[in-house]
Amino acid sequence: MTCYDLHSHSTSSDGSLSPQHLIARAVEQGVDVLALTDHDGMEGIAAARSAAQGTTLTLVNGVEVSVTWGGSTVHILGLNVDYQNEALQKGLAGIREYRRERAVKIAERLEKSGIVGAYEGARQYASPVMLGRVHFAKFLVEKGYAKSINDVFKRYLVRNKPGYVSGEWASLEQTVTWINDAGGQAVIAHPARYKMTATKLRRLVTEFKTLGGIGIEVISGRQHPEEIKTLAKLANDFELLASRGSDFHSPDNTWVELGRLPALPLSVTPIWQAW
Ligand code: AMP
Ligand code: MN
Ligand code: MN
Ligand code: MN
Repeated sequence: MTCYDLHSHSTSSDGSLSPQHLIARAVEQGVDVLALTDHDGMEGIAAARSAAQGTTLTLVNGVEVSVTWGGSTVHILGLNVDYQNEALQKGLAGIREYRRERAVKIAERLEKSGIVGAYEGARQYASPVMLGRVHFAKFLVEKGYAKSINDVFKRYLVRNKPGYVSGEWASLEQTVTWINDAGGQAVIAHPARYKMTATKLRRLVTEFKTLGGIGIEVISGRQHPEEIKTLAKLANDFELLASRGSDFHSPDNTWVELGRLPALPLSVTPIWQAW
């Protein structure tokens, strides 16, 4: 059976492996088809494509776009996008510019609680193209403010904590349009992680579908087994194609590995069926 992993990160966003090392690890883990889906950028794709050449692995060009919808941050994957599409590239560049502004605000807030130099510190861990909360987390762990990345998030980087800044990302409509116009397929990432009520999640799915979205992750890393059934039903109720992706970021996170995920339930239609 072909092993699909359609959600992963490299050092071009907040992953800790370079695109080359990510590809090598995916091959080692027996992944046949891997999507590189860095946050708000596609800078890693060219390097990943060269690395995949001559291996058994097929690379899917992807991106994970940060979206604000209904007061929540939602992540939309674009799979099989033309990574040279200008409108998509420009849109992503705009989001990254917002990331930079947000990072300045995060650093200002941290400074108010006595943590100095966080902006420069976070940048040490980031690629020049994308600055995210994980990079702040690495800096705070280095400085001894917390013992793990997870711990930093809990204590500093989420709502009601000193370094929290509410995101103002792209709109759902704009994002789905960018992805579709770049020849890709739009997929709602890790739906269970938004902690939305069932009603709100259905509202998101309805709107997403009306705007031209076609897929939803039914299998994702760090997901409870009982969520699979709910998400498979959601996919089928709304006639969305089902995707499967680990959301791999780093080998340090030992409970999420490339390709090591449950199979899609037989009841859903895999997004790769039409590929
Ligand atoms: P950002 O897009 O910069 O706001 O950061 C979001 C990223 O932070 C996610 O893609 C994850 O990589 C990471 N993240 C979010 N929550 C946690 C957490 N509780 N523990 C570790 N990493 C997290
Ligand atoms: Mn991430
Ligand atoms: Mn995500
Ligand atoms: Mn992700």
